[in-house]
Amino acid sequence: MNLRSIPKIELHLHLDCSLSYKVVHQLDPLVTFDEFEHSFKANAQCHSLLDYLARAARGFELMQDPVSLEMVTLDLFDQLQADGVIYAEIRFAPYLHLLNGMNLAEVVEVVAGAVRKGIEKTGVEAGLILCTLRHFSEHQSMDTVKLVQSFKGNQVVGFDIAADEAGFPVDNHISAFHYARENGLHITAHAGEACGPQSVWETLANFYPSRIGHGVRSIEDLTLIEHLKKENIHLEVCPTSNIQTGIYKSIKEHPADFLFKSGISMSINTDGRTISNVTLTQEYEKLRDNFGWNTAELRRCNLNAIEAAFMSASKKKALKNRFLELWQNSDLNF
Ligand SMILES: [Zn+2]
Repeated sequence: MNLRSIPKIELHLHLDCSLSYKVVHQLDPLVTFDEFEHSFKANAQCHSLLDYLARAARGFELMQDPVSLEMVTLDLFDQLQADGVIYAEIRFAPYLHLLNGMNLAEVVEVVAGAVRKGIEKTGVEAGLILCTLRHFSEHQSMDTVKLVQSFKGNQVVGFDIAADEAGFPVDNHISAFHYARENGLHITAHAGEACGPQSVWETLANFYPSRIGHGVRSIEDLTLIEHLKKENIHLEVCPTSNIQTGIYKSIKEHPADFLFKSGISMSINTDGRTISNVTLTQEYEKLRDNFGWNTAELRRCNLNAIEAAFMSASKKKALKNRFLELWQNSDLNF
């Protein structure tokens, strides 16, 4: 019974929500373990997405210079390796790391360099997704998408929009996503989390994503489910995070199993390893224990994730071969 040893792909993972206590303590020795537990991690059930997002600030406040950005990135690679992840797409918002005088390009350069070191050190393959945030201005969104364009091929693989979908409309970001589409950039977008299916429709119409971050509330509109299947839009599902932000009361009420059975392309992800207080192995265990998921479900979710990954067809093929070989050799009696 070893879910840790099976190879895993993770597509939805926020860098600044994934600091271990070890690296936090190195960056600020004054943060006690208790404080870390209470203010970096979200409660099992927060009041709302906003309450959840407030925890993320503790992470990015510590990531404001090249040394700390590199330490946090390498720390995440250690966590991924320990969790059996073989490929991850790690996302962050460069604009949140300018408080101590770094500029946007420097921030991305440092994190991209740290990703290269992490890959070399751990063997975990990875790419970076740069995020704009819902409350950002049109100008900030454009700056962010232009970073994706200029760092394309230098570890950066895609563009995302995150944060409070209920509080801020799509308007400020339409031109940035138009630019992304015009330039053939890979696009994902958070939607269908705090808001219902209408936010997924709105996101599809304005941001042209090939993947949706969460998107779980699409199940409230079966026409939308059929549309997502027809268009082969992949859902990056993060069960534990959805319980914490109060979308569902418990894992038993989470639609992961329903979505899977609908035949939609989906993967399982942690969202943030610290803030959600969960590993991908533990997410898989929850699905096994609550929905009876076994090798077939987990294998298909990972193969879906490879298909939806932001990489070329030849790299996908190589990753798929590596995944299948490791899968064959792992302990599949769980
Ligand atoms: Zn997220």
